[in-house]
Amino acid sequence: MVEKNIDDIFSKYPEVIYGFTNIVYSEYVSTYKSALAFAVPYGEQLTIETYSEEKFEKGIQDAKKVLEKILTQLQKMLDEYNVKYYIPPVAQNSEVDLIAPFSFKFAAVNAGLGWIGKNDVVITKQYGPRVRLSVILINEVFVYGNKVLKSNCPKDCTKCVDVCPHKALHNVQWNINSLRSDIIDYKLCNEKRSIYLKTHGRKNTCGLCMVACPFGTS
Ligand code: SF4
Ligand code: SF4
Repeated sequence: MVEKNIDDIFSKYPEVIYGFTNIVYSEYVSTYKSALAFAVPYGEQLTIETYSEEKFEKGIQDAKKVLEKILTQLQKMLDEYNVKYYIPPVAQNSEVDLIAPFSFKFAAVNAGLGWIGKNDVVITKQYGPRVRLSVILINEVFVYGNKVLKSNCPKDCTKCVDVCPHKALHNVQWNINSLRSDIIDYKLCNEKRSIYLKTHGRKNTCGLCMVACPFGTS
């Protein structure tokens, strides 16, 4: 019944990709049986030709609004059915290790939404990396998606690697056992984007390594 209600909510957002996974890999498994992962496409699907930082930021903010509406509807329904759930924080707690308590990306690949590209973000077939991810942990069992175990990036594609102005990407093909540090110097990426805080009051959304990706552009 809960799964059917979730399907009904997402039927109003046909552009959004979603799936379920068990979370046996996570310490949260003692409290929640599953994760629902979903990917909301950015408002404007930019390419390297149409990119500007401001438009990229706006695309993220537009997706966030849709995402929050969906989360509100999911929460309301789960409360009505008295089902235990938890929305993990999206960002890292600490600027030292830069790791969020529950990885949205790992849940998304386990739920079958896509793979991790050479740009260290989830690549969906429909939109490439131009999506905002969200996750809700739910204490119910669902029909789980097919876990994605390896990258579908073409071996010879280096568009994201080449476009990074700081050379933060290591040109490494992801698989389910890869570490983030194999793929990206995340501290360097974070540090360079944080310079923007002084002038704009937020990090540079950058995203050059996302808009350069050919997936989702045709
Ligand atoms: S977000 Fe920008 S700085 Fe970070 S890896 Fe991508 S292109 Fe490089
Ligand atoms: S630009 Fe190429 S290598 Fe980078 S994520 Fe997209 S398909 Fe993969």
